[in-house]
Amino acid sequence: MVADNAADSTREANKTNDILSSTRTVIKNALEKLGYPDEVFELLKDPVRMMTVRIPVRMDDGSVKVFTGYRAQHNDAVGPTKGGVRFHPNVTEKEVKALAIWMSLKAGIVDLPYGGGKGGIICDPREMSFRELEGLSRGYVRAISQIVGPTKDIPAPDVFTNSQIMAWMMDEYSRIDEFNNPGFITGKPIVLGGSHGRESATAKGVTIVLNEAAKKRGLDVKGARVVVQGFGNAGSFLSKFLHDAGAKIVGISDAYGALHDPEGLDIDYLLDRRDSFGTVTKLFNNTITNKELLELDCDILVPAAVENQITEENAHNIKADIIVEAANGPTTMEGTKILTERGKLLVPDVLASSGGVTVSYFEWVQNNQGYYWSEKEIDDKLHEIMIKAFDTIYNTSQTRRIDMRLAAYMVGVRKVAEASRFRGWV
Ligand code: NAD
Repeated sequence: MVADNAADSTREANKTNDILSSTRTVIKNALEKLGYPDEVFELLKDPVRMMTVRIPVRMDDGSVKVFTGYRAQHNDAVGPTKGGVRFHPNVTEKEVKALAIWMSLKAGIVDLPYGGGKGGIICDPREMSFRELEGLSRGYVRAISQIVGPTKDIPAPDVFTNSQIMAWMMDEYSRIDEFNNPGFITGKPIVLGGSHGRESATAKGVTIVLNEAAKKRGLDVKGARVVVQGFGNAGSFLSKFLHDAGAKIVGISDAYGALHDPEGLDIDYLLDRRDSFGTVTKLFNNTITNKELLELDCDILVPAAVENQITEENAHNIKADIIVEAANGPTTMEGTKILTERGKLLVPDVLASSGGVTVSYFEWVQNNQGYYWSEKEIDDKLHEIMIKAFDTIYNTSQTRRIDMRLAAYMVGVRKVAEASRFRGWV
């Protein structure tokens, strides 16, 4: 469940403190293994720029509500920063910082000319009207307009934001900048310069690395039993792709609960019934909890919702042999350690979910050149990039005898570290 009282919020806040410090720990390890001096870590352990904004929005009842938002820019040595904007009640400054750092790692892993950025607004869009959401989206862009732009920092969708919100944000930026500026943001509707394949890109990327991971374990995805946590953009497209490939989706979930059927769920029916926030379980009585879902008997587990889901408390009970992290930060450091010791194959978030930023990059390139590619061209390019990234990280983990997360951090951090050194920053 989404935290809806003070105690839950505090607990969530404490957890997000952990994701920043655990990210720093793995970055430090990765930089040490690569032989970089400590000053490189000092630079990369935090975003170079962090903006906090207060956004007044006139609500439907006539009152004004002031929302708090953030934009973090981790490092712009490689190029403009890039990363999504999250609308969620549990957004914190530390979470946004950690997410921005992960975006730098992803850009390094799939070799994009970007640094990492991320934004977030503390709000619950499920309880806001369309008009209120438009006001909030436009207000956020006005508040951060001086530090963002197509050559500075390029936002995109994330949890509880979508192509409509990107369209409002792009329109607001175009008004401020006094010309039509589609390259300011990615994840737009196709008619406004969006890219074919962007909406399903994260899930497509996850599917590609999941297939590679299954090959390594001699598992045929056709017939494999898969559990997916989260039925939003990432989770629902992924469930559909795997279902169509012959896998049995035995469990799915959203913020309110989970569904389980050992014979396989009817994914097309569930897709038809889900709302725009990825909610579907409210329509059923026979639900289980998200906690129970993660521990279900299955071959592959894909956390595709929020952070800190696999921890020292439940990592011992995970039955899946392969865990592919579609969500950002679903497994804690302790969780990673336990899963690795148990011989599980864990494909980390910074690799598995990098298909989204890859196709966002394609969208930005198409906006800049004013020439648009077909879905097949996008798919082919994405496929090539994801396979290469998986192979590099898997081979690094094998040769160095380290887990895939540390291997991914080593591959991801190298580009931003090198660029910072060439610029003479460290
Ligand atoms: P979304 O808003 O479309 O869907 C989120 C899903 O998670 C919904 O089904 C929601 O009900 C569920 N959820 C929310 N809070 C939950 C909780 N406390 N417990 C269980 N379920 C909960 O978001 P999305 O875009 O699919 O993103 C999901 C994850 O994937 C996030 O970690 C996000 O950062 C990551 N990700 C997304 C993209 C992208 O392009 N959309 C790219 C990279 C990474």
